[in-house]
This record gives sequence, structure tokens and C-alpha cells, in this order.
Amino acid sequence: VQYSLPQHKENVVLATGKCQYSAKDNVLLTDYKYKTSTVKNNKADGSIKVSLEEQDYKFKIDLKVPKVGVMLVGFGGNNGSTLLASILANKHNISFHNKDGEIKPNYLGSMTQSATVHLGRDEETGRDFFQPFNAVLPMVNPNDLIVTGWDISNLNLAESMQRAQVLDYDLQRQLTPLMKEYTPMKSIYYPEFIAANQFDRANNCINSKGDEFTTKGKWDHMMQVRSDIKTFKTENQLDKVIVLWTANTEKFAQIVPGVNDTHENLLQAIKNDHEEIAPSTLFAVASILEGVPYINGSPQNTFVPGLIKLAEHENVLIAGDDFKTGQTKLKSVLTQFLVDAGIRPVSIASYNHLGNNDGKNLSSQMQFKSKEISKSGVINDILESNSIMYGDDPEKARIDHCIVIKYMPAVGDSKVAMDEYYNELMLGGHNRISLHNVCEDSLLAAPIILDLVIMCEFCSRVTYKEANDNGDYKKFHPVLTLLSYWLKAPLAREDFLPVNGLMKQRAALENFMRLLIGLPANDELRFEERLA
Ligand code: NAD
Repeated sequence: VQYSLPQHKENVVLATGKCQYSAKDNVLLTDYKYKTSTVKNNKADGSIKVSLEEQDYKFKIDLKVPKVGVMLVGFGGNNGSTLLASILANKHNISFHNKDGEIKPNYLGSMTQSATVHLGRDEETGRDFFQPFNAVLPMVNPNDLIVTGWDISNLNLAESMQRAQVLDYDLQRQLTPLMKEYTPMKSIYYPEFIAANQFDRANNCINSKGDEFTTKGKWDHMMQVRSDIKTFKTENQLDKVIVLWTANTEKFAQIVPGVNDTHENLLQAIKNDHEEIAPSTLFAVASILEGVPYINGSPQNTFVPGLIKLAEHENVLIAGDDFKTGQTKLKSVLTQFLVDAGIRPVSIASYNHLGNNDGKNLSSQMQFKSKEISKSGVINDILESNSIMYGDDPEKARIDHCIVIKYMPAVGDSKVAMDEYYNELMLGGHNRISLHNVCEDSLLAAPIILDLVIMCEFCSRVTYKEANDNGDYKKFHPVLTLLSYWLKAPLAREDFLPVNGLMKQRAALENFMRLLIGLPANDELRFEERLA
């Protein structure tokens, strides 16, 4: 079985014996035996019964790389402008100078572009062989993404980049002529959802007349977004579009029975101009009704139950919430490490100060609350996995965990994160781990946005069915939890709990790529070495 990787101008030859290539449709068909176990925990007689389950699946991967458009809500923000800058710098191969010398464009921080997958042992050297993540199966090249978006601020993207103060001057200088060709489309601004301190920015809104904003006409606002999506798709002859929210953090919406609990109620509530309908909800509804995946990079609960039901009803992919960039990413590694090592975290204190517009917005209590909720949940499933240290009741497996965020204009986009992990060791001992991390927040977020878009698109080309099913191949469940690796508060589908541990999330992605080319999950058993 052989296919080509357009981004790498390479061919892959699969001799795994599990795959077939169909030239007629340009698809790869792969057999995979999924093995899992279930446990019956019988508290009455103190026994546990473990059983093995197996299911044969067939996967179908469409190998044609489509032309993809990305629509960012919050296009003119620090993340939005940095994302566009990174694509243009790479696409046009723009090198620049800073005090260290010449910097060539790259996509460091993007797992799909800068990390690898373990494929096996090198036949000649016996060493592990690693392949770039995006060179296992054909993926969209970020340089080929067509980008646009909406913002409540009317600055063009060159001006936004300058306002963001993220990139070195020499790079900004060279990017300016390219970036100024991009201007955000008008957006929806309902003042009560983001901080009052954002008001001055709002000069590019479909719901305003001068300084007056109306929250009436929500259905029309949503339809305008649908029309923007349609126009962008046809004008650029795109095969697929993905919408991603990287606008300001909104306050949490109340979950109100009869308003946002079912998809019918949600659509009716938009028509009724209900006050709990946030701009982000309208963007998500518009995307889903256009059959376009929607990803939420901010912490607010855009995905109210009615919205998840709408995505299920329309069978459109959704993922959220809140990019997992720095502090939380490390927390989901470090806490997992401690608990898996049998060391008992007793408290985690996390402080941040930042001086960008995100920090300004989060200095308002309601918006901070959304972030606090999203940042706090990240260790819960890790603690719940260890009854020795945290008891049998998962709901009570909690530790002291505080989150503080302060707005400090002077530091700009260079967010400072300080964490103290206080842990209990054997026989009454304790250890304290203190972390201090400083970096440009948007240089962490932009590559993550790329990964979310690229993997979301890739997953939409994978379908499956049970091996004995003669019917059609099916899409994945609309709540695309494979993207959790990049998300701080992963949205889970009903009756399932989110997985936060970064290594578990990473293993799922790596094994997913492996299974699609007929390889078993990476188990690190390494019998070649360990057996005599
Ligand atoms: P930013 O304030 O620089 O950008 C947000 C942009 O959204 C602004 O340009 C603003 O004008 C625009 N905006 C606000 N409301 C809008 C609306 N209704 N429609 C369209 N545009 C709107 O912030 P940022 O640093 O780019 O971060 C964006 C979001 O990503 C924030 O919610 C932040 O919490 C989240 N986030 C960022 C990171 C990171 O590392 N940078 C990590 C996790 C989450």
C-alpha cells in the first residue's frame, strides 16, 4: 500500500498487512482490533472482576487534502494576529533579525508541525524511528490555510500585530505589507458578556449605530455570520471551513431550562432575543447550521446543553474549551507525574500576571470567574484516579487549589506564571516545587490554534464502522475529544468525564495515527530488549 504526502513530497509504503488502498476514491481502509477492559467492583464481597473486550473496526481515511479556510472570531487580537503572522512568515519564508542574529520562520510549539510519532525500530540501526506527526498521513499544510475572521475592533491585521507587541520589530516590518491586506469582518458585541473595559475597542459591530449597541435581532446577527461563512467559502473556493473562537473571554451563560437546554429551545431563545444568548453562542450556532466545525479557545460555557444537542442533531464537530498553553499544560503533566509516582499533592497555588488585552479583560470579575473555573478543573480526574491518597469517593478527591490572575500592563504579552506545588512525602515529609515561567502568551497559543484546526480537519476525513457492519462508514461523535490535548477544560460528551492528563491525551493522538496505518498502540513493552 503506497500513498504520497504532499506537504513533504514523500511517499509512504505500508507493509503492516492491515491496510488497503483504493485508488478509485483515494482512500485508505484499515482494520483495527480495539481491546479494552471493564471492571466490576463488587463492594459487597470485596472482589473485583476484570474482563477483556474486543471489537474489530474498519477505518476509512480520505487521503485527499482539501483546501481549508479558517475563520477566527477575535481575528484582530493577539492570538489572531500572531497566528496570521506565523502563517505568512512561513509561507513567504520571511527570515528576520533580532539581537541573537537571523531567525528563520518555523512552527515551534505546534505538535503537528514540530513533533514526531514513534513508528518502530529502524531495520538497520535498531534505534527508534520517529516520523514527523504530519508525515504519517496527508494533512493540511498550515501555509496553505486561507485565513479570515471577525473582530469588534476595525484595525487591519498589520495594525493589530503592532498593537499586540508580540513579534520582533524586524519581522513586523516585513510582514506589514502582507498583513495590512486583511481586515476583520464586523462582529457581534453584547457589552454585558465581556469586560466593560473592552468598550473602547468596539467600533466594528453589526449591531451598532454609532456608540449605541442593540442586543435585539439576535437571529439576524446569527444569520449574518452564516452568510459570512457562505461567502468566504464560495469566494475562496474552499472545500472546508473551520470556525474558532479566540475572542475575549465571556462571562458564563446561565443554564436556563426552556432556554438553552435543548436545541429547539436554544434556537427559539435566539429568535426571542433571550438575554442569556452570548455572541459566542451565535457564532457556534451559525457554524453548526452551516455544517462547519466550531472550536472554542476561551473558557466560557459556549457549549450549553442545547448547543451540544444541536451539534449532535446536525452531526457537526465541536471542541472546547480554552487553549491549554502554558501553566495548565505543565500542571496536567506535573500533577499526573506526582500522583502516578505515589507522591501526594496537598495544595497547588497558581499565580499569573499579564499585561495584554486578555489580562485586561480578565481583570473583570465575571470574566475571571470563567477562567478560574476552566483552570481549576484540570487536576480533578488525576486526583480521582488515586483512592489510596484521596479516598473512595471521587467527588471528594480535591485539594487546596487556588488561581490568581492579575493585570499588569507593563509586562504586555509576556505572561508570568508562578506555581507552588506542596506535596506530602513518606512519613510526614513534604516537598515544595516552585515554578516560574515567563513567555509570550500568543506565541504559545498560535501554534495550538494551528494544531486544533489541522487535527479537526484531519479527523473529519476519518470514518469508521464495526467490521461486521455492511452499512455506511460513520463520522466520529460530534464532541471531538481527541482535541483535548490542546484544551484546558476539555468538553466531554454526556455521561463521560473529561481526561485532563497531558500524557494520556498525547498517547491517544499518537495511537490514533498509528492505528490508522495498521500499527498497534504504543505500549513501550520493548520485548526485543527485555526478554532474554
Ligand atoms: P485579545 O484580547 O488580544 O484578543 C481578543 C480579540 O477578540 C480582541 O481583538 C477583541 O477586540 C476581540 N473580540 C472581543 N469580543 C468579540 C466578539 N464578540 N466578536 C469578535 N471579536 C471580539 O486576547 P488574546 O490574547 O488573543 O486571547 C484570546 C482568547 O484566548 C482569550 O479569551 C484568552 O483567554 C484565550 N486564551 C488565550 C491563551 C494564550 O495563551 N494566549 C490561552 C488560553 C486561552
